[in-house]
Amino acid sequence: MKKPNKLQTVLSVASCKLTRAVLRRTGRGGTAIPGIVALKLSGNVLSVPARGMNIVVVTGTNGKTTTCNMIAHAITSAGHECLLNKSGANLLHGIASDLLCSTDWQGRPKYPYAVLECDEAALKQVVPLIRPKAIVVTNLFSDQVDRYGGVQNTLKEIRTGVERSPRSVLVLNADDPLSSSLSLNVPNKVIRFGMDQAVGVQGNIDLADAGTCPECGSEYEYDFHTYAHLGGFRCPKCGYKRQEPDVAVVSIDQKDALGSTVHMRAKGCVADPREVRISLPAVYNIYNASAAVAAAIALRIPADQAVSSLADVKSSFGRLETFDLEGVRLQMILVKNPAGCNQAFTYVTGFDEDYTAVLCLNNRTGDGHDISWIETTDYEKLCGDPHLKKIYVIGDCAGELAARLEKAGAVSEDRERMEIMSDYDQIVQRLKTEGRPAFLLPNYTSMMELRQAVSKVTGSREFWE
Ligand SMILES: [Zn+2]
Repeated sequence: MKKPNKLQTVLSVASCKLTRAVLRRTGRGGTAIPGIVALKLSGNVLSVPARGMNIVVVTGTNGKTTTCNMIAHAITSAGHECLLNKSGANLLHGIASDLLCSTDWQGRPKYPYAVLECDEAALKQVVPLIRPKAIVVTNLFSDQVDRYGGVQNTLKEIRTGVERSPRSVLVLNADDPLSSSLSLNVPNKVIRFGMDQAVGVQGNIDLADAGTCPECGSEYEYDFHTYAHLGGFRCPKCGYKRQEPDVAVVSIDQKDALGSTVHMRAKGCVADPREVRISLPAVYNIYNASAAVAAAIALRIPADQAVSSLADVKSSFGRLETFDLEGVRLQMILVKNPAGCNQAFTYVTGFDEDYTAVLCLNNRTGDGHDISWIETTDYEKLCGDPHLKKIYVIGDCAGELAARLEKAGAVSEDRERMEIMSDYDQIVQRLKTEGRPAFLLPNYTSMMELRQAVSKVTGSREFWE
């Protein structure tokens, strides 16, 4: 496609910025429309800012948003400014909007780096326009709806994208036979990430998505399993097998609700393997972290810098895990001080659907014994939300917290709205029966108890958000 001339570029960029400004003024979020307008005026306008930027595109079924956050954090920790697109705007036009709105009027980039989350099917449209330095594929799983055949189609879509971007470094999950196979028959340079062995991970084994050997069509055998179809796969017939990862977790030393400590082997690190602290909990975030380190290496960010940055990476509103409770969405946010709590309230009150809130407060060692911070926390904001239909309160300090909530208006119109509970399992059962999405807002030790109760019912479905 021809490079746009200066006038076309200015018109296209200007219309993108103005459309977005107007939409925001009128209170409409419209993430796609500015991009649609811009690309209508000049189909190749993205090539203008993209030429001056180091762009990494992240796609795959699970972990895209977190992996993007981690890569962006590694880049900024290394002292560079970085554009990060909002999840939810990960189709062509949303990406175009974000990219063009981050430039000056002539389309010159303000950021040297961009980390762009991209929908799997949109990859093939996006990459020819922006020519990313790297394409990260986190993993491929089928959703419930496309259980049969769907994931193979997704793989084909991604492959088309890869074939249209021969100069991009591919960052692939070595343990996933699907994403790993993307390196076959393409000229791209490849960096792989994964677990060196099972390293104590015990996820559910489910080989339905594994597919068959791309060389000869045989079923895979496995030397080890980590989760679902991820692991040490190999073809018993022709010898095609998992490739050694360049960034590999060699051991998981500690896991808790606040994160994990692992040993990681990464090309370019001074100590090999070196100890790595990852400040997000759950095993799937260890995979996401290794993907992020591999992506950083592809962008020539020093490996040690990238690895160190994982110790203080966070999602914008604190840690967040999502659980699927037999079709009911639960989101857990750790809250342990007024600032974090208020941020969480901003998040949970920002949606247009009814929900339940579960507030848990303990005052044990690990929480801090002093709970006076609840007095200065803006529970009024939470209780004032008309979408909040039910509040469960639990924990050692449930009484104090309920009193505070009552003062904040929790039961002003409806005595039934708030209930003090004593059994975490019972709360989980109620959430399941009521069927409403729920936000779980525990502090540290109560989070352990709540998580346990949730995991009992959701099983391993918490593995990837
Ligand atoms: Zn084979």
